[in-house]
Amino acid sequence: MLRIHNSLAREKQAFTPIEPGKVRMYVCGLTVYDYFHIGNARTLTVFDMVYRWLRAAGYDVKYVRNITDVDDKIIERANRNGETIETLTTRMIDAMHEDCDRLLMLRPSAEPRATQHIDDMLGLIGDLEKNGRAYPAANGDVYYAVREFPGYGKLSGKSIDDLRAGERVAVDGHKRDPLDFVLWKAAKPHEPHWCSCYGEGRPGWHIECSAMSRAELGDTLDIHGGGWDLQFPHHENEIAQSEGASGKPFVNYWMHAAFLNMDNEKMSKSLGNVFTTREVLNKLDAVQGGEAVRFFLLRGHYRSEINYTWDLLQEARGALVSLYTALRDVPPAVSAADYRIDWADPHARRFHDAMSDDFNTAMAFAVLFDLRGEIHRHRSPAHAALLRALGGTLGFLQADPAAFVQGAAQASEAAEIEALIAARVQAKKARDFAEADRIRDEIKARGVILEDGAGGTTWRKA
Ligand SMILES: [Zn+2]
Repeated sequence: MLRIHNSLAREKQAFTPIEPGKVRMYVCGLTVYDYFHIGNARTLTVFDMVYRWLRAAGYDVKYVRNITDVDDKIIERANRNGETIETLTTRMIDAMHEDCDRLLMLRPSAEPRATQHIDDMLGLIGDLEKNGRAYPAANGDVYYAVREFPGYGKLSGKSIDDLRAGERVAVDGHKRDPLDFVLWKAAKPHEPHWCSCYGEGRPGWHIECSAMSRAELGDTLDIHGGGWDLQFPHHENEIAQSEGASGKPFVNYWMHAAFLNMDNEKMSKSLGNVFTTREVLNKLDAVQGGEAVRFFLLRGHYRSEINYTWDLLQEARGALVSLYTALRDVPPAVSAADYRIDWADPHARRFHDAMSDDFNTAMAFAVLFDLRGEIHRHRSPAHAALLRALGGTLGFLQADPAAFVQGAAQASEAAEIEALIAARVQAKKARDFAEADRIRDEIKARGVILEDGAGGTTWRKA
């Protein structure tokens, strides 16, 4: 039985989907004005892991992750770059897919874009207005009236008055209450806008998720995920919008991924410690990098903060290489395509129990390292097959083990050494022994030992 920590209930609860065997999952995606940073990578990877595990556990999952392709940051960046909003967002969506692919994420079932759902957003705002929860203001904006929604504050666990005291909310003469938030913004010059019964304008950010989740998944979702920082106000506002319109519960299980810190400090532009995922990936070995970062991001439990340092990342890479080394040394008994996990096996059972306990990847990874120990002790191809398959449920250990262990840097070095060996053979054939010796010395200087045998020359690192 799968148990999930529900942020709304503040406890782990047994997971019961709305429809048996099916899961409707929505995750707040990216605003595509720049490459995504390594903190975003954690949230995206966590929910990819959740998606993969739900599938491995036998659920038919519809996973929706939105793309915010119109907002202030996008407009500002496109203007600064001297390009259209569409050129910028198309480029950034392509880059997002590239980076997600490098981190071995599966594509969501749907990636709706805000600009393609304007009518759905206006429909939802219309429903809210009918229910007395939205009001047009004199300046052309449309606001949500938080005082008209009795459940406002239930996710953050605070009353409206607590929230008003705790948050620095800008006083705005057009709002009835400072916590009221914008659903529709009146058009400003030189900004993209759409026609509506409220006049020309564009949607507020919060309404996107309520409208797109309703369009893709219906009024009630099984799981809604996002970063920890989105709980207030974004998710609180999503609840107010969706439940305020439909009168039905919006989300049965709210999941939030904790922060990634940089060298024990919160990531922030002012500290200059914000790294894009591609910067990090480009510094790593091309063969090992993506899976190593994925491993690093998932080795802690998703509700625990994790600390990013270069050394910790390298350590994670080394740990992953050690699992691949076991698979290289003792190849699995059966091909991956023909192998089925026997969940009654004690190791598989422990892995399953860990993942069923609120996706405890830290415990599940420990099982992978126990299996590595078994493989070394007993040289057991059966354990190797299980290791590869359990890793595979979370998107790991599917590459060719020998190539992965060698890595890209070593692969290019290997090509150079092979070329030198071939040149030495040629020199010997031409009876140019001085040249052959010179090449042998050059190879030796690279810390490589040549072994001339009956089948030719092989080499190994000294
Ligand atoms: Zn959202």
